[in-house]
Amino acid sequence: MMKKIEAMNTRLILDNLFAYVALLDINGVVKEVNNAPLIRGGYKRDDVVGQFFKDAPWWSYDSAVRSRVIESIHAANQGKTIRYDVIVKMGDDLVPIDFQISPIYDRHGTIIGSLPTAVDITDRKRIEEKLSLSEEQYRFVLEGSEIGFWDWNIVTNTVERNERWAVMLGYSHQEIQDTTQQLMDFIYPDDREKAWLSIAEVLEGRSAIHKLEYRMLHKDGSIRWILDQAKIMNRSLEGRPQRMCGTHTEITERKILELELEKNAKTDCLTGLFNRRHFMELANQELRRATRFGNSMSILMVDLDNFKKINDTYGHKSGDNVLKKFSDVCRLAFREVDVIGRIGGEEFAVFLPETSRIQAIEAAERLRTRIANTNIPMDQDLAIEFTVSIGVASSEDATLDVLLSHADNALYKAKNAGRNQVKVYEAHF
Ligand code: GH3
Ligand code: MG
Ligand code: MG
Repeated sequence: MMKKIEAMNTRLILDNLFAYVALLDINGVVKEVNNAPLIRGGYKRDDVVGQFFKDAPWWSYDSAVRSRVIESIHAANQGKTIRYDVIVKMGDDLVPIDFQISPIYDRHGTIIGSLPTAVDITDRKRIEEKLSLSEEQYRFVLEGSEIGFWDWNIVTNTVERNERWAVMLGYSHQEIQDTTQQLMDFIYPDDREKAWLSIAEVLEGRSAIHKLEYRMLHKDGSIRWILDQAKIMNRSLEGRPQRMCGTHTEITERKILELELEKNAKTDCLTGLFNRRHFMELANQELRRATRFGNSMSILMVDLDNFKKINDTYGHKSGDNVLKKFSDVCRLAFREVDVIGRIGGEEFAVFLPETSRIQAIEAAERLRTRIANTNIPMDQDLAIEFTVSIGVASSEDATLDVLLSHADNALYKAKNAGRNQVKVYEAHF
């Protein structure tokens, strides 16, 4: 009685399974099959049970599919489990299934038959197809759109890039290897740190998107400006990033124009020195820093002597050349940290951070002497000689306007004293 109920239960379970299950003897003859594959295909139990499994209606449509089933039964009889996706005939439909066949052993461990099972994977296949189609479309759009694409598998630390990524830097797709080390190698050395910092912000979850413009090295050694934008595509359950994807857009032309505009807005086009506005901005920054640390700072006001006469004698063009020559000498006379600006027609200011009055006077004298010893060769052994007058002001806590007016005051004294000299602002005079 007990045995009968157990047998009935097994039957019930099998018949209510969505999966397809059969039972074969060692000769490959079907001893049992559950309802699911019969109902799905509209087959009768007698079409299958008692027949060779290889002759079942599911593979009758294709001899190759049938041959593979024969091989699988054989393999299962040898103790192997075989599994593969295959298409079977279910009535009028062709249905994809995930097919598996494994051996059945008796209690002595002898193989007495095999157990084929299968699940319908129509839905999975449909999704896979859709995905691969959209992936294809996606790649197609990317290839057509001049956008470089990178896909970093953080777990295996490999990077996949599209053709465009490579071509942008003058390489073929094959030349680009798939390591992250290489990514850093392609970035212009000065920009590597900021590029990595921006990516790290995203990896560590402090920022949602990596978006940065930086320079990369073209195969021919030239520079390409790239807009790099990336996001994490996958994180593990613990939140560790596993995949990051990004795009490269070439922006060299735009960037060069932008940098040029920026530079033009800050510099004077005749001399290449900072213009008045930018000089004031930088000098103010330096002054605030100096005040904060209680450092001394100095300013020089420099004015070309009798410049009007130079213009009148040699012409405006030669006057321009004098201004250019003056700025060349000036650039060489000061340190990298000193800020030099053209603040009027033939008037210049130099902000000297961390410079005492004595040091400022030395610097002013150095400039004055160098200018006095400079000339601009003309035709017939002639040369334009010129001189400058310089006013010096120093302080530890003045505003820029005050410092400038003090230096101006000293400059006025230098002019009055006969020009080609350096004068210092003294508060008590
Ligand atoms: P001082 O020694 O008192 O400074 O006499 P100065 O002749 O240098 O001074 P003044 O202010 O009388 O004349 C300055 C001249 O500089 C007048 C102006 O035409 C000339 N100048 C200003 N900007 C430029 C420029 O960009 N190019 C040329 N060639 N001349 C300029
Ligand atoms: Mg002058
Ligand atoms: Mg002047």
